[in-house]
Amino acid sequence: MRIKIAKTAGFCFGVKRAVDLVYSITKENIPVYTYGDIIHNENVVSDLAARGVTVINSAGELNDKPSGVVIIRSHGVPRKVIEELEATGNRIEDATCPFVKKIHKYASDYSKDPRVQIVITGSPDHDEVVGIKGWCHSEPVVIETVEQAENLDVPKDKKLVILSQTTFNENKFKLIVDILSKIGYDSIVLNTICNATHERQAEAESLSRECDAMIVIGGKKSSNTQKLYDICIKNCVDTYYIQTLVDLDPSRFGSFRCVGITAGASTPNNIIEEVRTGMAEKSFDELLEESFKTIHNGEVVEGTVIAVKPDEIILNIGYKSEGIITRQEYSNNPVDLTTVVNVGDTMEAKVLKMNDGEGQVLLTYKRLAAEKGNKKLEEAFENHTVLKAPVSQVLNGGLSVVVEEARVFIPASLVSDTFERNLDKYQGQEIEFVITEFNPRRRRIIGDRKQLLVAQKAEQKKELFDKIKVGDVVEGTVKNVTDFGAFIDLGGADGLLHISEMSWGHIENPKKVFKVGDRVKCFIKEINGEKIALSLKFQDENPWMDAETKFAVGTIVTGKVARMTDFGAFIELEPGVDALLHVSQIAKEHVDKPSDVLKTGEEVTAKVVDINAESRKISLSIKALLAPEESGEETESEDGEKSE
Ligand code: SF4
Repeated sequence: MRIKIAKTAGFCFGVKRAVDLVYSITKENIPVYTYGDIIHNENVVSDLAARGVTVINSAGELNDKPSGVVIIRSHGVPRKVIEELEATGNRIEDATCPFVKKIHKYASDYSKDPRVQIVITGSPDHDEVVGIKGWCHSEPVVIETVEQAENLDVPKDKKLVILSQTTFNENKFKLIVDILSKIGYDSIVLNTICNATHERQAEAESLSRECDAMIVIGGKKSSNTQKLYDICIKNCVDTYYIQTLVDLDPSRFGSFRCVGITAGASTPNNIIEEVRTGMAEKSFDELLEESFKTIHNGEVVEGTVIAVKPDEIILNIGYKSEGIITRQEYSNNPVDLTTVVNVGDTMEAKVLKMNDGEGQVLLTYKRLAAEKGNKKLEEAFENHTVLKAPVSQVLNGGLSVVVEEARVFIPASLVSDTFERNLDKYQGQEIEFVITEFNPRRRRIIGDRKQLLVAQKAEQKKELFDKIKVGDVVEGTVKNVTDFGAFIDLGGADGLLHISEMSWGHIENPKKVFKVGDRVKCFIKEINGEKIALSLKFQDENPWMDAETKFAVGTIVTGKVARMTDFGAFIELEPGVDALLHVSQIAKEHVDKPSDVLKTGEEVTAKVVDINAESRKISLSIKALLAPEESGEETESEDGEKSE
């Protein structure tokens, strides 16, 4: 294998100048700050951090820090940032690349003219562009794409001064200038693309055409490295973007005759050298062995994603042909493959067919995943492990859940501990279950959710009975309402709130008072085995407590006829307190039965003639309200004679 390193790979003039400056200032033994990462390279930034260099992102961060030197990186910053930093009293070392400084000057000078519109070609969010914008006296326009150039919304009488981010693609810049000219703009074109960038990109272009594989080294945040990668991948499909040697698997390069290496402007030479050495260190035996690499149907291979489309993934599997995974062989569910894998990802797959007719190796991901899923299910079956997975399909007789592409069927009878007429609500829901039958050959992998729910409820029930005792106030949810009472779910067991215990007063029908789902606070009246009787008749609300005072003999009371018998009518004086109006006490005339003269619900006024609070009995009389002569009873006159 021949390894060719691009002459232009690595630090450019501006970056080298900035990095050298930081390293030299670290020797001064004073606090050193860089405004942002000095370069887009994690290794260099962490090495400087180890030497005590602190990265700041605003002047305000210096307020609580000791005074020292602030270094401005090669990308440059807006004028305002320099002013803010100067105001902090720290020493400022401006390492802005002289080429970038020149752009700042153009931006500042030209933008003073109101007839001029500054146009910058570049990425609007890139720090260098943000810096350039910050030197303009009027709002500049940033163009990143050809479409933006075609739709430029600037009056035609303005003169455009076109500048560029130093790392912008040369061809795209020319295209944009051309478009603006065709639209009819009068422009001053200042091609500020840095030669270093241009040369590096041109060399990457030619090297990637001539080599079988390319390695592009640079930080993941470095835009100029990304551009080098974009150029190389167009010419050479086996292009790898790495940060250091660690990201590289040299065994993948066994079948290539020539490998090219280039690197972004922020990549230190030692990293480039390390990659070169790492590539060259492969022994002849290893290379020979790799060149004879063979694979077979059914074999599991690992590969790196080199291209991905919505319906197929292309993998470099280190074999003379590439591997392909179609959408059907990725998953049982239709999925856009660009949303699940990225170029550069590594993944395992199984060889389905050595040649798919177009010289590619047909791979399957879903079958390998299903095998792994089956293995997991088998272990879960043996160990009685609880699994959790989403319901992928609601079937006629139950639910289908998928565990790593392996299907489990949960029959309707094992879905819940209660009968479920409609299973639709489970669609997409994550549920827990255990495997009770595992026979993949007969395609019988059966899950059971019911036994988990039953066990869970038994546990809850035990906890509940361990906790509660007669007299405790508990809160629960109404689960069912019948004519004789309501069943309250106390979390583990149900308690019965009988109609007679719902109120001190009279309840006609529980359904008029409670509905399913209501929360109820009541107390435990009795526990008999697993039966819990509940009550809402709290003692402190007992209306009989002060009845002897409220309804003392002689008190005139008003109440409603609650019910009637042949011997009298029961008058509700207040909820829970009924008094008897005997038939003989209704009127002075003879009344045969109460319903002849009273109606249920009718309001009556009577006198209390007797009370026994202990046995909860009160006797009333209407007759006693009448004057003695009206009541028809004998009274004694002052002279001792009786009258009627
Ligand atoms: S790429 Fe060019 S402009 Fe940018 S820092 Fe390097 S030398 Fe300066």
